[in-house]
Amino acid sequence: MSTLTIKNLHVSIEGKEILKGLNLEIKAGEIHAIMGPNGTGKSTLSYAIMGHPAYEVTEGEILFDGQDMLELATDERSRLGFFLAFQYPVAIPGVTVANFLRTALNARRRAENPDDKGISILEFRKTLKAKMDMLKMDHAFAGRYLNDGFSGGEKKRAEILQMATLKPKIAVLDETDSGLDIDALRIVADGVNALSGDDLGVMVITHYQRLLDYIKPKFVHIMFDGRIVESAGPELALRLEEQGYDWVREKYAEPIVA
Ligand code: ADP
Ligand code: MG
Repeated sequence: MSTLTIKNLHVSIEGKEILKGLNLEIKAGEIHAIMGPNGTGKSTLSYAIMGHPAYEVTEGEILFDGQDMLELATDERSRLGFFLAFQYPVAIPGVTVANFLRTALNARRRAENPDDKGISILEFRKTLKAKMDMLKMDHAFAGRYLNDGFSGGEKKRAEILQMATLKPKIAVLDETDSGLDIDALRIVADGVNALSGDDLGVMVITHYQRLLDYIKPKFVHIMFDGRIVESAGPELALRLEEQGYDWVREKYAEPIVA
């Protein structure tokens, strides 16, 4: 069973410390929600997990089944089974959704078996159609250029389709903090629910309790000022919905020294 373990993680961007000693463990089969005010480092955490070069880990560990992830480049982490659904997916004009996914899938297969000849186009079309049906997507979607002119909801769908195709062991979903309508929330939630199971551990970053009406996390964590300060069950998200973050700020904000 796959386990992601994050111990005392410190991460800086351009010399500024953003994560200040973060601890978290995610096991396959578990859905964890990370909530917290803007600017607390939620996206920084997801980039650090994937190995974004601009995010410098100055202290601490990221382990996957005991293996040191910090030694690995982003593509190596991906091939081990890590997946990040971006908060702001990038458009790639000229590359269709289908081509992109087949290339990514073949890279994954070759990582597992260097002799793999790649999935045949016919077989790939069949599995892609099945996944699109599961996610209630129009098949024409596969022929469009990746994220090029996509609506917010379509971008989210494309990310979930990518996740369904690559079948990661640990998926990090970084939600957009504003502007996701209820349909887009449902797309993300239905996708995660359809894919989650004993083999997949999920970390859902969300600003909104609403998403958790559809995705049922086992654990909810509150992030504040670069650390996870509270962890509990889904009731914690309900408390945030009722009371906001003021009590978190009062409890954990560092006093301003004059
Ligand atoms: P969240 O996702 O919780 O809103 P972020 O991880 O995006 O928070 O940002 C945390 C802090 O790091 C913020 O103060 C933000 O301004 C800063 N930050 C994020 N990305 C960069 C970057 N590429 N360069 C400089 N500062 C950044
Ligand atoms: Mg963010």
